[in-house]
Amino acid sequence: MICENCHREREKGRKYRFYYGKKGKAAGTTVHETPFWSKSYQIKGNDDVWICEECINQKQLIVDILAIVIGVAGAWEMIRLAIFGEVIFRMTIFGTLAVVIVILAAWFVFGTHEEIGERLAINTRKAELKKEGYNAFLTTFGRSRINH
Ligand SMILES: [Zn+2]
Repeated sequence: MICENCHREREKGRKYRFYYGKKGKAAGTTVHETPFWSKSYQIKGNDDVWICEECINQKQLIVDILAIVIGVAGAWEMIRLAIFGEVIFRMTIFGTLAVVIVILAAWFVFGTHEEIGERLAINTRKAELKKEGYNAFLTTFGRSRINH
């Protein structure tokens, strides 16, 4: 197969799906990006893009390195607060923050393979889909957050 990201002939790889459409309230579908704001999307369709394992691994490595550096910093903060945390306020606020950082970092290392593939898939098709007038691109995870 020819990888649509690096355009090389590769043996190992697979298809990654993404969704495309248009942003706007008239659409009637809503994505809650965060608890603080929401966006409306009109999903028009989906596309499958074949991407090789090497492209995925390359991206995953960058994500892993960043996540491990941040995760170690978070873990260190947890240990530091457990040992030296004198004020209970610091323990709860910064302790919770440190735990969240460690969990997020772990998720990036162990759970982003699919997301990375789908983001690469979006990148390979974005330009041509934009020419067709589409301005919203979602991964499966992003798509799953549309509530109606
Ligand atoms: Zn590739």
